[in-house]
Parts: sequence; C-alpha cells; structure tokens
Amino acid sequence: MDKSKLLSLRESIKVNNKAFKLLFHEYPQMIISRIIYVIWVALTPYVEIYCSAALINEIATNRDKDRLIYLAIVALSSITIISLVTYILARWRDSVCSGMYTKVQAIFTKKLLNMDFIKIDDSDTHQLISTIHQNSNGGGWGLYQVIGTYERLIESILSLFCGITLTITLFTNMVPEGKGWLTYLNSPIFIAIIIFIMLLTTILSPMIINKADSYYALISEEHNAGNRLFGFFGYLGARKKEAMDVRIYEQNKICEKYNTDKYGAFCSKGYFARYSRMVIGWLYILSSAISSLLQLFIYMFVCLKCYGGAFGIGLVTQYIASISRLSNNLSSLILYVGAMRNNAPFLKLVFDLLDMPNEMEQGDLNIEKGINYEIEFKNVSFKYPHSDNYVLKDINLKFNPFEKMAIVGENGSGKTTFIKLLCRLYDPTDGEILLNGVNIKKYDYHQYMDLFSVVFQDFKLLSFQLGENVSTAINYDHDLVIDSLTKAGFKNRLDTFENGLDTYLYKDISEKGINVSGGEAQKIAIARALYKKTAFIILDEPTAALDPLAEEEIYSKFKEIVGDKTAIYISHRLSSCRFCQDIVVFHDGKIIQRGNHNELLDDENGKYHELWTAQAQYYNN
Ligand code: ADP
Repeated sequence: MDKSKLLSLRESIKVNNKAFKLLFHEYPQMIISRIIYVIWVALTPYVEIYCSAALINEIATNRDKDRLIYLAIVALSSITIISLVTYILARWRDSVCSGMYTKVQAIFTKKLLNMDFIKIDDSDTHQLISTIHQNSNGGGWGLYQVIGTYERLIESILSLFCGITLTITLFTNMVPEGKGWLTYLNSPIFIAIIIFIMLLTTILSPMIINKADSYYALISEEHNAGNRLFGFFGYLGARKKEAMDVRIYEQNKICEKYNTDKYGAFCSKGYFARYSRMVIGWLYILSSAISSLLQLFIYMFVCLKCYGGAFGIGLVTQYIASISRLSNNLSSLILYVGAMRNNAPFLKLVFDLLDMPNEMEQGDLNIEKGINYEIEFKNVSFKYPHSDNYVLKDINLKFNPFEKMAIVGENGSGKTTFIKLLCRLYDPTDGEILLNGVNIKKYDYHQYMDLFSVVFQDFKLLSFQLGENVSTAINYDHDLVIDSLTKAGFKNRLDTFENGLDTYLYKDISEKGINVSGGEAQKIAIARALYKKTAFIILDEPTAALDPLAEEEIYSKFKEIVGDKTAIYISHRLSSCRFCQDIVVFHDGKIIQRGNHNELLDDENGKYHELWTAQAQYYNN
C-alpha cells in the first residue's frame, strides 16, 4: 500500500464504523459479549484503586479500628465480586466468540456464494479476493482487526473518564501556606505546564508508535509477497504432489533462494529487518523514553504535593495509579485511532468486494414443480467479459423433456461455456434462452438453478462422511443416498465399508477415512448429482482424468443411471458418446453437426468423421 492510499481521519472513522455495524449486524451476541466485558474491565480497576487509597489513608491518619475493618471488608468483598464477575463475563464472551475468525471469514463466503458468477469468474475479482485474504492472513488487516480496535477504543474512553474523575482532586487540593517554595505547586500556571507536558508526552508516544506501524502498512505488498513466497516455497518438500520432484531435482536449493537473499521479505536483508533495524526500531525506543519521562514527572509532582501537605499518603497511590492509567489510556486512544486509520484502506478493499452489486437480472416468476421442462437456445451468442471474441455464435438448440443429448467437440470449442449459459452462471450476450417458452431471466434465479445437477470436470469431494458428501446435508435420506450410490455403481465398494455411509472420505478429519480412486470419486460425484432430485443432469467431462475405456463404461451406462431425467453429457472423446442417439458437434463456438453416431460418421467431410478417425487409433475401435 502506498502512502497516498491512506484515507482522511473522517473517512477512516466512517469505514471503520461501517465495518463495526456489519459485524454487529451479523453477530450481535458476539459483539455485545465483547463490549460488556471490555466495559467491565475498564471500570473495575478504579474501584480497587479507590479502596486501597482509602485504606492507606486511614492507616496513615486516624487509624480508627472500626473504620479500618469496615474499609478492609469493603475492599476485599468488592475485589472478590469483581474477580468473580470478570471470570463469568470472560467465560460467556469466550463461548459466544468461539471460532470468531472463521465467523468473520464466513461473511466473505456468504457474499461470494450470492455474487453473480460472472464476477466470481472475473480475474479482477480474483485479484481483489486474494489481496483481502493476504492482507488478513499476513498483516492482520481488514475486518477482523475492527473488533479489537473498537474494544480498545471503548476501554480507553471509559478509563479516561474514570481516571479524570479520580485525578481532579490532585489539582484542587492545595499545599497549605507557609510551606515555602512548595506552595508554587498550587500555581495554576505550574499546573497548566504539568498538564501540558503530560498531554504532550502521552500524545507523542503513541503518535510515534503509529508512525512506526504505518511503515508496516506501507510495506504490506512486500509482506504479502513474502508470505506468498514462504507459503509456497517454505513447504514445497512437504507437499505430497511435489515432494518427489523436489527431492529428485534437489529443487530445495532454489527454494532457499526465494526465502532468503533479496527475494525473502523476512530474511535479514529483507524489508522487515531493514525497517526494524532502522526507522521502526528507533521510533519504538523514542516512544518508550518519552513514556518514562512522563512517569518521572507524575511521581515528582504528586510526591512533592503530598510532602507539602496537600493530601494524605493514601491519595499518592490513588493519583499515581489513576494518572498512569489515564496517560496509558490516552495513549491507547490515540494509538487505536491511528490503527483505525492504518486499517481503513484495507477495509475499503473489503467493502469494494462486499458492496459489489449483483447486476444479473433476477426475475420473480415461480417455476412450477412436477411438470415437463423444455429448454430452447434461440440465436444465442456469448463473449466473456473483457474479451472481444465470441466464444459461442448463434446457437439454436432445443432440449425436449427426458431427452439424452451428447455434446462433443475439441477442447476450446465452447462446450463448457454452453453449459454455463444453460445453468445461468452467465447470461447470453445476444439471443435468449427459454424455459417452456419464457426467457429464463424472468424466473426466480434460485428456483431456476435448482433444476440442474452438474458434475463438472474438476468436481470436488470434501473430507466429510460419504453420506454427507452425497446428500450435501447433515441430516439426509439414507435410502436415497444408498440408491444413488447403487445407480452410480458404487454399491460394491460401499459394502466393504465398516461404517457404511458414516465412513469419512480421505484422512483429513478421521484417521479411519478412506482414500478413493479417481474412478470411485467420480461415481460418488455422480451419486451426489442423482441425489439432488433435479429435472436436468449434466456431466461435463468429469471423467477427463480417467482412461478412455473407463469413461466409455460410465457414459454407456449413463442412460440407465439417469432414468427419466433430461441428460446432457459432454466429452471431447467421441467414443464415450457414440451410444447416444442425439449428438451435437461444437466447433469454434458453433453447432456444426447433429445426429446419431452412424449418421455423423457417414458424412466423410464432416468434423465428426475427422475427429473420430483421429481418435480411433488411440482406442482400437
Ligand atoms: P470446451 O469446454 O469446449 O473445452 P470452453 O467453453 O471451456 O471450451 O472454452 C471456450 C473458449 O472460451 C476457449 O477459448 C476458452 O479459452 C474461453 N474461455 C473459457 N472460460 C473463459 C473465461 N472465464 N474468460 C475468458 N475466456 C474463457
């Protein structure tokens, strides 16, 4: 972040307040528990200060036995009650706030899940998400920091008020006449000078710390870059995928170069070390020195006034304790206002993401359940954002209910893009897509999305239990999950699992988890698509990682697996789709042929024939 990106104080407070309101809106109990705790912790020390001062004063002056007992009981019982309540409040806060970091992150997840897909797919959004993530992980900047900052601000403001209340009498209690030069301490000018020095040192010290910390904010990009390098190269040998290559080619030597030398932000010649040795280090020393100077002034002033007879010895402890708290809290106040300002540009980035509007037209027509659905592409053309090239050109295609259709074509011919338009992840640039004769933009977006199950090429199974993976729910219909797994051809493997559907996939959560092969994972992904009772099911080359024969086996059985759903399967391997009666050939964003395998193959000048001949040699067909 360069210096010019720092916001004005007013803007900084505004963006911090906005973040605080958002956090409060999302997690009110969490924020309330933290604030109540902070208020309590800010106020209670003054009770102790007041009680001990009263006790010492009594010992030093009247020594009235009954009053001493009374004061001791008040002091002890209030300290006991305070500790008890502090403990209870801390427990409440900790239980309400467990997983707080993840909860804050969930705000982003919620946004991303509800955002127009077109924006998620955009490289600028990716860059923004990645920067926010790195700012948060690397320097602790962003939304999460706001909670701590507000806690400290509230604590400082309250403590300041209490400190001022307990300190006022230091200036109103006068050294009696006849105490020589000590009576000068009563002079308002002298008092003003002391307050001025106190304020100056109290303000100066945190200002210096803020200045020092602002250097960290200024090098946040180097910090993030350093983190990225460390995250990638620091654990290279430990990651399964790369471990073998790293060992065989001894790539660790290159890694060391990136984490040390001039590339490593954290090495001894890096930015952080340089700044710590020089400007940041010296600023911290200066700040400590100034704070110590303040302590010296307070001690001298309070002790001399007491020595002169302005007040009893008990009040010395009260004044010293409350002034040093007062000055610490004034420092904190300035420090955290500074922290607000340093964090503001990072919060602005957060809101650039969170406030990103959804621009996709969202209709409100309901989609009737249990009827037949017919979808038609009418003169549909499409180009990706920031691109001038049409990826799909003038597509006209109709799916009738219960039909099975295969889409084939070379890589890059537009097959996946076609599916993205069908599922309304994107809207066409030109033309329209109709559901039962009505433009799909007119329907409720979520109801429309619910018509489809898609198994994408790079589908992901999570390390949950098998049943949870298939149903994508915690409570699910066991029979339906087993039925879906059976249809997807996973039943034999399932029968070998001791814990049935409760078996964990992979070993991340449970040591007893099972590792599934690529083919097995694919069957589970198909079962997941079948479990979701949708009208349409789409397989977008989820089998790309499998060998052609394994893919063909799955695709040839797909008709019986999907039953009466309208199904579309996509592959660049023609052999997998040849059993389908309706094959659509995509080339360069256009539909160039349509028919069954034999019809298409008969056209010797057609693309299908060309692709088939080229691929046949690999499959021995
Ligand atoms: P297929 O599924 O047939 O392999 P795709 O639909 O994935 O083809 O891609 C069609 C064309 O669109 C390709 O040239 C690809 O580079 C381009 N493309 C795909 N996704 C994007 C995207 N998010 N932004 C820009 N261009 C894209």
